[in-house]
Amino acid sequence: MSKLETVVNEIVAEMRDMPQRGEVASYIPELARVDPKAFGLVVIDAEGKVAAAGDADTPFSIQSISKVFTLTLALGKFGDRLWQRVGREPSGSRFNSIVQLEYEKGIPRNPFINAGAIAVTDAILGGHQPREALGEILRFMQYVAADDTIYIDDKVAASEQRTGFGNIALANYMKSFGVIEGPVDYTLGVYFHHCAIAMSCRQLAMAARYLAHFGNDPTTVLPVVTPERARRINALMLTCGHYDGSGEFAYRVGLPGKSGVGGGIMAIVPGKASIAVWSPGLDASGNSQLGQLALERLSKRMEWSIFGA
Ligand code: GLU
Repeated sequence: MSKLETVVNEIVAEMRDMPQRGEVASYIPELARVDPKAFGLVVIDAEGKVAAAGDADTPFSIQSISKVFTLTLALGKFGDRLWQRVGREPSGSRFNSIVQLEYEKGIPRNPFINAGAIAVTDAILGGHQPREALGEILRFMQYVAADDTIYIDDKVAASEQRTGFGNIALANYMKSFGVIEGPVDYTLGVYFHHCAIAMSCRQLAMAARYLAHFGNDPTTVLPVVTPERARRINALMLTCGHYDGSGEFAYRVGLPGKSGVGGGIMAIVPGKASIAVWSPGLDASGNSQLGQLALERLSKRMEWSIFGA
């Protein structure tokens, strides 16, 4: 067994009986049904070797992790013009905060808070029908993960559509500044559905490989994005990927990463590996409690922090 496999197995065993698991998100009712004891961890190294343990193949709701892929798509379409509609600064606020929009003329602080991701989704939509835009996002996920079985969990999307009043408010408020261009219900429909994409840790770690390998799919060696774009997306994940817990994640784990309220975290070790971890219980900032702990231990034992061993 390689050192990586040993470490991954060790960490999953350590997490099994951890008493403090955080709270499963319940503001999207369908997410509250998930087993709080579920835990999965998958790491794929530069040679494509997979170290997997726990619930590595159980699909879960990737939620905000989808924002990394919508950002990738939107940058592909608009390049740097995208930054006219969304900023690149950490928010220091909760993921669903509306306050900063008032001071910044409806321009969200970054593409990973809800407001920013809704603005990015609106850019992708760009006058097309919602089904078309959603199909494009799903196909992109399937392409980067090399897996056509990835699907949208319609129950989760419908559950959020029924209860997502905060996001509806954010979208309408941005619309009042002209930051959202299309019909608000189209934009939100696509947003709720891409957040409801279901993937396993194995599929997510596969999908993240282009960010770990300078924009290339390491198996086909085909470029997904330029090395410069991969570097910049990683920088945004490091500074903004965990909402108002981003500083803490950089301090403890030291890797670019993106969390979702489904309890998943995708993390990148530049040039070395892509990682996905899933544990549904969240901390006060909305980030997976054990997911962060597992990544802290993984990064320490493998000496992977980008800030040094
Ligand atoms: N769909 C979720 C929301 O908009 C995403 C939040 C998250 O995963 O952090 O509230």
